[in-house]
Amino acid sequence: MNRRLQMIGGLLAMLLLIGYGSLAQHSKTPKPKADPKKTEMVVKTDAEWKKILTPMQYDVLRHAGTERPYSGDTWNNHEAGVYRCAADGNLLFFSKTKFESGTGWPSFWEPATRTAVKTRADRTDGMDRDEVICIKCGGHLGHVFNDGPQPTGLRYCMNSAAMKFEKAKK
Ligand SMILES: [Zn+2]
Repeated sequence: MNRRLQMIGGLLAMLLLIGYGSLAQHSKTPKPKADPKKTEMVVKTDAEWKKILTPMQYDVLRHAGTERPYSGDTWNNHEAGVYRCAADGNLLFFSKTKFESGTGWPSFWEPATRTAVKTRADRTDGMDRDEVICIKCGGHLGHVFNDGPQPTGLRYCMNSAAMKFEKAKK
């Protein structure tokens, strides 16, 4: 009886292996690539982030902190250029999409590219908001609201501390 069970067990294991093998084979078939130049993720430990970011950048980017309105260095910036993630330089916004929101935070109506940022639902503080995250490092940048100007009607409410401004070359 014991021997028979062993044999059945062995057979099952073999069948599983064959099944797995065909599955593995299957996954090897090339899939159509959604994004040919896939963004490389920047992965660091909390201690590493703490070392390379300023306390304010660290609080905003890694702990979803919010800088005080009118306190950041770009809410009132009107120069032409680009805004990059303070942690990894990922291109986030163009100055031409920046607008006066009156909030004291740098605000944009559109990200630089469709894959620059991603959003996720944020239900903290009893609010129903969409958090904006850098696609590259997963760092918190701010929130997006749908009371922005045309053509998108969106308002990307960012933290100055999460970004670094790069002046356009003349
Ligand atoms: Zn980033």
